[in-house]
Amino acid sequence: MSGFDIDLFVIGGGSGGVRAARIAAGYGAKVMLAEEYRMGGTCVIRGCVPKKLLVYASRFGDEFEDAAGFGWTVPKARFDWATLIRNKDTEIARLENVYRSSLANAGVEIHDSRAVIEDAHAVRIVKTGARVRARTILVATGAHPVLEPVIPGGELGISSNEVFHLDCFPERILVIGAGYIAVEFAGIFCGLGSRVTLLHRGDKLLRGFDDDIRVGLGDAYAKRGIDLRLDRTVEKLDRANGAIAATLSDGSVSNVDQVLVATGRRPNTAGLGLEIAGIEVDRAGAIPVDGYSRTLAPSVYAVGDVTNRANLTPVAIREGHAFADTVFGDRPTIVDHSLIPTAVFSSPEIGVIGMSEATARLRGDVAIYKTSFRAMKATLSGRDERVFMKLIVDAASEKVLGVHIIGEGAGEIIQAVGIAVTMGATKADFDRTMAVHPTASEELVTMRTPFVVKHPQAVG
Ligand SMILES: Cc1cc2nc3c(=O)[nH]c(=O)nc-3n(C[C@H](O)[C@H](O)[C@H](O)COP(=O)(O)OP(=O)(O)OC[C@H]3O[C@@H](n4cnc5c(N)ncnc54)[C@H](O)[C@@H]3O)c2cc1C
Repeated sequence: MSGFDIDLFVIGGGSGGVRAARIAAGYGAKVMLAEEYRMGGTCVIRGCVPKKLLVYASRFGDEFEDAAGFGWTVPKARFDWATLIRNKDTEIARLENVYRSSLANAGVEIHDSRAVIEDAHAVRIVKTGARVRARTILVATGAHPVLEPVIPGGELGISSNEVFHLDCFPERILVIGAGYIAVEFAGIFCGLGSRVTLLHRGDKLLRGFDDDIRVGLGDAYAKRGIDLRLDRTVEKLDRANGAIAATLSDGSVSNVDQVLVATGRRPNTAGLGLEIAGIEVDRAGAIPVDGYSRTLAPSVYAVGDVTNRANLTPVAIREGHAFADTVFGDRPTIVDHSLIPTAVFSSPEIGVIGMSEATARLRGDVAIYKTSFRAMKATLSGRDERVFMKLIVDAASEKVLGVHIIGEGAGEIIQAVGIAVTMGATKADFDRTMAVHPTASEELVTMRTPFVVKHPQAVG
């Protein structure tokens, strides 16, 4: 290890860092990892996992209501926020320990401290002051929520970090933003019984998603009683009689108990010492990397949200694993970011893989298959909600370019359909797949009549 104390120093114990450290250690590398907050990172501590537990909690109300049509008499249900948060915290603490012991068992030396880069081969462990010389450094520091834009009284708002630890359940909540985190929390609080206002400066939710999904979720949320305030911004927040008064750009004032700002996240690169190693961040504050997650400094790599490629846990994990295979396993591996199945845990849920109709139309002629129907369960429950599915197919090759679903189980469905789409399935492959009856997802293999959209250049 000529001149180095260790082979790899990983900064950040989140999804990407933990995977990279564990796999590198498995290849025989001497590895240290520093985590300044809690082991497991955003996903485990204050992201995907606690959020999904809250999503589960928020959906029982629907189940209790729906049960009546099936003959059940359910006494008026009562919800206790403190119990939910306590149980959630116990589970998160358990998971944190699992992460910690998986690293320790792999032989990784853990430091519960902030770490900063001192040069392209040296890291300072802030708590002890120790300087460690590492052959390779991996930056896996993730991202943090930003409360933007800065407005008077903005400090009265909370971010997704704090929302998991509220002492009191908010009877009224204003959610600002329309990305997946904003719509998920709007759905969670609506399901738990809050009066939810969702404020967004644009005209539709979920920018970047297929327009039918964006409109579909907006309609479903309006039907569920979420007060959608689109094309508006918030101008200031004031304390008012124990509540928060949010003044909107249309002059209206919303009085609420909490304001959740979910307008974006920024990579954790400030004060990390990157510039000393010759690494400049981009305009978003992210670390630019090549396909192997290598930065401009040959001994420094970066994975996960800090690189702002696709900010999702499975992507960070895959990038961390590929890094370890490349550098320590003698198996150079590039992560393919072109097809990433993803779910939005709104209620109703969304599952997506591949191109939106708008993107696909820019490539060439496409055939669009759509269906919207009432789920079988809704026939007896009486719930007024529809399932929507859409296939986007390349007209020439018949390859399925995109699948978009809103409805119960969409996240689970899209994971399985994602295999077929990743393998390059054609519409004929979907058609020859036997349906599973009676399910909602059988519609994916029974849609027959497309409408064909000509590529703009071919029209006229
Ligand atoms: C509310 C919410 C819900 C989400 N839901 C989903 C979801 O459903 N599905 C999904 O795929 N993704 C989801 N995500 C995104 C997912 O959490 C991230 O993409 C993922 O955690 C990124 O992993 P990472 O390793 O890059 O960073 P992180 O998991 O953020 O880990 C980075 C770690 O580095 C530590 N750190 C930072 N700087 C230093 C330093 N200088 N020294 C030491 N330690 C440091 C941090 O404390 C942190 O623990 C969600 C995110 C949020 C906020």
